[in-house]
Amino acid sequence: MSTQFARKPVVATTQPTIKLNDDHAMPQLGFGVWQVPDAEGAAIVGAALKTGYRLIDTAAIYKNERGVGQAIAQCHIPRQDLFITTKLWNDDQGYDSALRAFDQSLELLGLDYVDLYLIHWPVPKKGKYVESWKALIELKKQGRAKSIGVSNFKPAHLERIIGETGVTPAVNQVELHQKFQQRALRAFHAGKGISTESWSPLGQGKLMNDKAIKAIAKKLGRTPAQVILRWHLDSGLIAIPKSATPSRIAENFDVFGFRLGDEDMQTLSSLDSPKGRIGPDPDDFN
Ligand code: NAD
Repeated sequence: MSTQFARKPVVATTQPTIKLNDDHAMPQLGFGVWQVPDAEGAAIVGAALKTGYRLIDTAAIYKNERGVGQAIAQCHIPRQDLFITTKLWNDDQGYDSALRAFDQSLELLGLDYVDLYLIHWPVPKKGKYVESWKALIELKKQGRAKSIGVSNFKPAHLERIIGETGVTPAVNQVELHQKFQQRALRAFHAGKGISTESWSPLGQGKLMNDKAIKAIAKKLGRTPAQVILRWHLDSGLIAIPKSATPSRIAENFDVFGFRLGDEDMQTLSSLDSPKGRIGPDPDDFN
């Protein structure tokens, strides 16, 4: 495995960033590690870092923060050049429990701060996301979470935390890909200055065989994954594709040397579907 991972970076550092509403810069393309086993985390995340990714997206529930931390410890990249996100799991919602869960995440990661801490799901039936948000505000004050945000929040959940605390999340990380483009939510975010981060940006690999995407890829001499990711970047989104395969890790990062034309952007935008959601509806997910 290590010899495959030793390939030269495709594009080292010329990656775009997004300026968040708290003035921090976040890389626009990152590496997601859901379903990466903890024991393989160091090698797989190490490969991503070697390729050039600087944003790593993990979560307490992924149970691989230790492996991610090992990769960070071994990579010899200055800490300030990395952007590490982790997330508060649903069981730990509430003010005190969120603070405890954050300590645990930092310890597993071996870090003294994260760049972005997110509430993973609103879990409205629990009724604790405002208290959890207050804990994240405290963590930002302490400087141990440089930026704070949420994930899977709908406008009503966002309105509530903003209304009750006066603090707007920097980021909302939501399911977003060509089949589920979240246009209304993105417009809402734009009005509030919230940056949109796409989870499952490749539709969990299901978009690769779409005819229109394949045709654009063929025309441009790119792969379907690269066309999909380029659409996210050209749409002003932050995207965090996941792969455990070295060649795909590199392929997914090799997207900075081309742009999509207006016509291709329109074709891709037309793939939006009311039935495109793959994951759960945040109102129901516990
Ligand atoms: P994804 O859309 O990134 O798709 C990943 C899958 O696509 C891979 O497992 C592989 O099967 C395939 N793939 C990847 N690169 C490919 C390539 N170049 N060619 C062909 N196939 C390829 O799906 P994901 O892992 O669900 O989402 C990415 C990240 O988003 C996760 O790892 C995680 O960090 C985050 N996420 C967050 C939430 C949340 O609730 N906040 C939920 C799901 C995922």
